[in-house]
Amino acid sequence: MKRRAPIDTPHNSTVIYPSTLFSLEKDEIFPYERYAYNVLSVGVDALNAQGLCEKLVIDFTQLPTNSSPWTINASVTAHFAADGSPIEFVFAIPELVPAILYMFSAVVGSEFCSDEGFEKIQRNPNSISDQFHSFVSGAGAGVRAYRDRGFGAAVRAAYDHLGLSMTHLRKSSDVYDSLTKQIAYHEVAHAYIHQFTREPRPSQAERVAFELIADLVATEWIYNKMIRNTPDTDEYRAFRQLGSYRETILYNSLLTLRYQELLIMVFAIAGAQTQGGKVTLEGGAYHPPGMHRYMLQHLHLYTLIRSNFSPPLLEHDFDQLDHDWDVRMDALVRSGVIPSSDVESLLQISECDTVELAARLIEELRIPELKKAVPFLNSIRGHLSRAISNEKRE
Ligand SMILES: [Zn+2]
Repeated sequence: MKRRAPIDTPHNSTVIYPSTLFSLEKDEIFPYERYAYNVLSVGVDALNAQGLCEKLVIDFTQLPTNSSPWTINASVTAHFAADGSPIEFVFAIPELVPAILYMFSAVVGSEFCSDEGFEKIQRNPNSISDQFHSFVSGAGAGVRAYRDRGFGAAVRAAYDHLGLSMTHLRKSSDVYDSLTKQIAYHEVAHAYIHQFTREPRPSQAERVAFELIADLVATEWIYNKMIRNTPDTDEYRAFRQLGSYRETILYNSLLTLRYQELLIMVFAIAGAQTQGGKVTLEGGAYHPPGMHRYMLQHLHLYTLIRSNFSPPLLEHDFDQLDHDWDVRMDALVRSGVIPSSDVESLLQISECDTVELAARLIEELRIPELKKAVPFLNSIRGHLSRAISNEKRE
């Protein structure tokens, strides 16, 4: 396979790992190395392209405000020189979170995303809530050990509780990798879209809109990495054990759409962590509701696949993508992972204010990736009003 020549971009990045991390085993260290890699692999080039400083700090030891070491809450902050130019961006994620996301990937995500695992879920719809409970009890064992004995003991206790081994790493590394790409890219996108460097500073409403924009930029980068860059070579097809370019695009699209559905579960877990255990996809003062965030990303990804890959994808391939999405969403709703109140909240016309504000900011900030998404964002209110009036009529 012909490889692209590497481009040397000078950069100066630091990763601050929890101090006892390297006393752990390979499968326990992997989530940390991969998260840092995912921030850097997209962050260095993206921030350079925007003429922003390329000093990145990835800090697993710094707690974002209002977080505990296990709260799913990644953040990015900018530090400025005296003249107001940014000198570094710090990406913080609480120290147990990569391990927790890995456990989620191994126990819940890899089953949900694989054909065999999902067949089991379809045969027994309760199995997804069982997997969820076992993941939560594993994470709980980790938190208890953290309180008594600190970081290293916490990771070990949680892995032991769940019986995780190297076999799980082989099975779930792709799922974890893609889940954390979505999180890491979103954080990098906050800096990339000049959220910290634009004057005037964003209002509260704009900060909520910036969340949607960061989601959409991240989706675009994920699409590039996972689908658009699919090599059209015999060597790659042999590696994936697939016969044609069309099949590789279909398979990569299928997986990427499944990986994206994992985000809903992660939003739900994060909601439960801050709401005393109540599973919720509600937003907050600075975040749109989780279900809205997910649906916009899903529609954006789906539109990218449809507008760029038909052909080679055929109409029945899109039927397969649609069916695959339907059955998985159905499983999430039936198992209670997505509360039905959150599905109903999808039809809230008031959320369109944030979507349209996002469209205006995309134009103002000239975000190259999202230029084409502006008409779509501005059309949502119309689609929604029609859907609501049809529903009333029925
Ligand atoms: Zn964000």
